[in-house]
Amino acid sequence: MPVGEYLTDSSGACIYVNEKWSEFTGLWGDSTMGDGWRDALHPDDRDVVVSMWQEAVKNRTNFEAEYRFLRPDGEVVWIQGLATANFAENDQFLGHVGTNIDVTARKQTENLFRTLLEAAPDATIVVDGDGSIILVNAQALSLFGYSRKELLSKKIEDLIPAHARAGHLAFRVAYTNKPRTRLMGGNMELHGLRGDGTEFAAEVSLSPIETGEGTFISAAIRDVTERKAAERRLQELQSELNQASRWSMMGMLGATLAHELNQPMTAVMNYVRASQRILEAHGDRVPKESLDLMTKAIEQADVAGKIVQNLRQFVERGETEYAIVDLNLVVGEISAASLPEMGQRGVNFRFRPGADLPSVLIDCLQVQQVVENLFRNAMEAMEARDDRELTIETSLVKDGFVEVAVSDSGSGISPEIADTLFKPFATTKTGGLGVGLAISRSIVLAHGGQLWTEPKPGGGSVFRFTVPVAATNGNEHAE
Ligand code: ADP
Repeated sequence: MPVGEYLTDSSGACIYVNEKWSEFTGLWGDSTMGDGWRDALHPDDRDVVVSMWQEAVKNRTNFEAEYRFLRPDGEVVWIQGLATANFAENDQFLGHVGTNIDVTARKQTENLFRTLLEAAPDATIVVDGDGSIILVNAQALSLFGYSRKELLSKKIEDLIPAHARAGHLAFRVAYTNKPRTRLMGGNMELHGLRGDGTEFAAEVSLSPIETGEGTFISAAIRDVTERKAAERRLQELQSELNQASRWSMMGMLGATLAHELNQPMTAVMNYVRASQRILEAHGDRVPKESLDLMTKAIEQADVAGKIVQNLRQFVERGETEYAIVDLNLVVGEISAASLPEMGQRGVNFRFRPGADLPSVLIDCLQVQQVVENLFRNAMEAMEARDDRELTIETSLVKDGFVEVAVSDSGSGISPEIADTLFKPFATTKTGGLGVGLAISRSIVLAHGGQLWTEPKPGGGSVFRFTVPVAATNGNEHAE
C-alpha cells in the first residue's frame, strides 16, 4: 500500500505500523511503538502536532493534520495525516486507526509557487472563479495597503474604483469563460483602489491557472503612476518644443521680413519726399491738398517703418522703448490710422476716452500693435453682420492700472477655440496664422498687465487689457 498505516491504543500509544509508515518516518522495529513516532516529527511541527494528537485522544475524536517527518537521513517528508477514532460494539474506545499520505511533491510545488509569487517583482493576486481573492504576495499588500488577512477576505472588485467596477465585473466573467494569458484592458487606462481610498494608474497582466478546484486567475499588477506622469511630461515637452521651434521660425520669419521691408519703406518715403519737392517747385499750379496728402503718406510710411523696426527689435529681443505717455493719445493715434479701413468695411467706430487718466508707462508702438490686432479681429468677426459696431474705451480701473476695452458686435468667440484663444497658432480663419492674440498677450504681460476676453451682452465680444500707471513721483518732465 502506498499509504502509511498505524494503530494506537486508547492511551494514544502506537501498537502497530506498516512498512510504508516506517519508510516515511525512518523508524523501524521497537522505536515505532508507544510515543516513538514523536521523535520522527520535524522539530518545528512537533509541539503543535503532539498537542493536537493529545486532544484527539482525550476527546476520542478524529485527528486530521498536515505536518512533516524529519527522517534520520535528513529527508523531509510532508504528511497528510488522518486518524479515525475506533470504538467497539459496546462503545468502548479502542484507540485510533491512522493513515499517512506522502504529499511532499504537492507541498514542494506549493512552496515553489509561493516562493515564486513572493519573488515576483509585481504585486500578484490570485482569484477564484467568483473573483474571491485566495492568494496574494507581500508586494500586493504594500501596493494596496492591506494586511494579508484583510486582502484574503476581499473580492477583486473591492480593489477597483467604483467608476470601473461594473465594467470589470463584465470583463472578469467574459475572461473566466475564455481565459488566456494577456495584458488587461488593451489601450484602456486601468486604475487600482488602495485601502485608504486613493487611486493609482495600473498595468495588469492576467494568466489562468488550472487547478483541481477549477480555473483560478493570477493577476500581476504594476503601479504605473510615475511612468504615466513621465510619459505625459514627455508629451508636453515635445509639444512645447514644437511650439518653441515654430515660435523661433516665426521669429526668423519676422526678422527677415522686417529686414526686407525696411529698405522699400525708406525708398517709398524718399520717392514721395522727392516728388513733393518737385511739385512744390511748380508753385500755385499744384493743388495744396495733394501736397498735404503726400505729407500724410510720408508720415504713414514713417509709422510703418517704425513698426517694422520695432518688430525687429522685438524678435531679436532688443531694447523696447518705454515712455510715460497719455494712453488716450496713443489709442487716438492708432484709431485714426485705422479709420479708413473701418470706413471701407462699413464699421461704425466709436472712441470713448476715459476722463482724467493718469499717464502710463508703455512702449507705444507695441501697445498700438495690440490695439491694431484687436481692431482687425473685431472687424473680421463682424464681416457677416449687418450692424457693425466697434467701440474702444479707456478707463482707470483699479489701483495702478488703466484698462483698454475693445468691443464688437460680431460672431463672438467660437466655442471650439475658446480654450486655446491666446495660444499661438490657434485660429478659425482659413488664412489665419493664429499668432495675433498670442503676441498681443505676451506684449501686455511684458508690460505687467493682463489681456482677456468676455462675451458682450447682446452678442459679440469684448477684449480688455490693462497697462500700469506710471509712478507719479513728480518727474512729469520725463515725458
Ligand atoms: P488669427 O486672427 O490669425 O486667427 P488671432 O490670434 O488674432 O489669430 O485670433 C485667434 C482666433 O480668435 C481667431 O481665429 C478667431 O477665431 C478668434 N477671435 C479673435 N478675436 C475675435 C473676436 N473679436 N470675435 C470673435 N472671434 C475672435
